[in-house]
Amino acid sequence: MKHRNARVLSLLLAVVCLCGLFTGCTAKPQEANEEAKYDYLVLVNKQSKLPDDWESVVVLEDAQNTLPEDIALNEDNDYLATDVFKVETKALEAFRALQEDCAKDGITILLDSTYRSVARQQELWAEFAEEYGEDYCKKYVAVPGYSEHHTGLAIDICVIKDGRIINDNDEMIAERELFAKIHEKLADHGFILRYPEGRDDSTGYSYEPWHFRYVGSAEIAKEIMERGLTLEEYLTLSTQAQNPNK
Ligand SMILES: [Zn+2]
Repeated sequence: MKHRNARVLSLLLAVVCLCGLFTGCTAKPQEANEEAKYDYLVLVNKQSKLPDDWESVVVLEDAQNTLPEDIALNEDNDYLATDVFKVETKALEAFRALQEDCAKDGITILLDSTYRSVARQQELWAEFAEEYGEDYCKKYVAVPGYSEHHTGLAIDICVIKDGRIINDNDEMIAERELFAKIHEKLADHGFILRYPEGRDDSTGYSYEPWHFRYVGSAEIAKEIMERGLTLEEYLTLSTQAQNPNK
């Protein structure tokens, strides 16, 4: 649903999932074995911008989906079979483990949208601004530099259910039972559900059952998920704990 013949689809998606569009391929990956020089708890939201040097240090890897041979593809979902997705190294490893864990329960999850460069988001902004005006952009298009997808640590998934790909946002939201089972497994692999239901006040985003964020360790992910915190709340509490007198 993301890449095909872009504008109308882009528009629809931009409206439904500001965080989760388009994969870009412009960052230069470092050597994969180099120790990470970045913070897996980096906060990027509508107020907090991606650190300026992030894209020059983050280590990204290419990934593709492996789809069952008998799956029916169409113009709305064939990108799932053809796109190359970029994901931060450790996050990708963790995602593969999550995928296996889900598969044990007969659930198939796929990469749907991952890293998106700031440059790509700028292009997108310019395209929409030209066509629909700046006001429209401010309302519906993520501001370049302020999307968590720039980090390489955010993954939007879609699912296969009963031999059919479900990648429509509304349909995914309606699959409550299925997504609850997936969400139960996230923390074990270092992921959190980044935009929980009813927490717009803290995250700035409506419920997105498909958007997962890698936070670097299962321990931290469990603390966040088990306490029902948002990443924003967790980071505030951590800062307070480190500076009790402030
Ligand atoms: Zn997303």
